[in-house]
Amino acid sequence: MTSRKIKACLVAGFTALTPAAGFAQSSVPGAGAPPDHPAVTVNGVTYTPASILNRNMGTPAEQETAFTPHRIIGNIYYVGLKKLTSFLIVTTQGNILINTTYERNVPTIAKSIEQLGFKTGDIKIILGNHAHGDHMEGDAALKQMTGAEVIVMAEDVKMLEGITPGGQKHPIDKVVHDGDTVKLGDVTLTARLVAGHTPGCTAWTMPVVDGGKSYNVVFGCSLRSPGTISPEVEAQMERSLKVWPALPCDVMLGDHPAQYQMEEKFAKVKPGAPNPFIDKATCTTEMKIQEAMFRAVLKEQAGKK
Ligand SMILES: [Zn+2]
Repeated sequence: MTSRKIKACLVAGFTALTPAAGFAQSSVPGAGAPPDHPAVTVNGVTYTPASILNRNMGTPAEQETAFTPHRIIGNIYYVGLKKLTSFLIVTTQGNILINTTYERNVPTIAKSIEQLGFKTGDIKIILGNHAHGDHMEGDAALKQMTGAEVIVMAEDVKMLEGITPGGQKHPIDKVVHDGDTVKLGDVTLTARLVAGHTPGCTAWTMPVVDGGKSYNVVFGCSLRSPGTISPEVEAQMERSLKVWPALPCDVMLGDHPAQYQMEEKFAKVKPGAPNPFIDKATCTTEMKIQEAMFRAVLKEQAGKK
């Protein structure tokens, strides 16, 4: 693991450990807090690397408070926190959970699952979007509760091996590659590599039937590139920016709720009204923000040379 990657994990960990500090990461030397430049404007909203991270992570309290558990579409349910997503997919042969988040959130996620009328013990497969603690630190704890199989993207294995809460080894039962499928009961998920944020960042895609109609759902991975973009990450991002718009998509989700405007969409859920999560127009919204930022950072880097 390179020092840059270790730093990325620490940033996420640090935010959670300083309740009083809110988002004051910049006051900690070497914590790797993102700068407030460059600024990009997409759809009339201006973003900086710092504002994007703040939008994603919110406050430490928001990272551990459950958001109202709800059905998103078909057999897909939200069981995550206010600022960190966790999704339950109910199949005919047990359930799949995407993103265990921080280890301390696992009991909260389990409570949300039970509130929806499902059993945490029915989880057979644990997946994640990418190898950072705020999305996959709880894998060992949830596996211990359920005996579920942990399936991960090959390119993220090295970083996952560095996530060891309380000294526990990160469980890895099966490794998949770009384009591989994961099947359970009547559900088939496809793993698509959208590297850049981490080497194994994974967008999981699946078809779903709702109200007699078929839709494609994408559990999108973060496309937030690091503050300094190496030639390796640049190549990964360029590839991901081609893969992303080609993903079959009617419903875009993300590893942070802000990436798909969860709160705004959830507020529009009403009996008889169209499902606000079916929103093809926003399938590439987050990608456009991250692409603009990626290009702006590259330009700034080139200017420094
Ligand atoms: Zn991350």
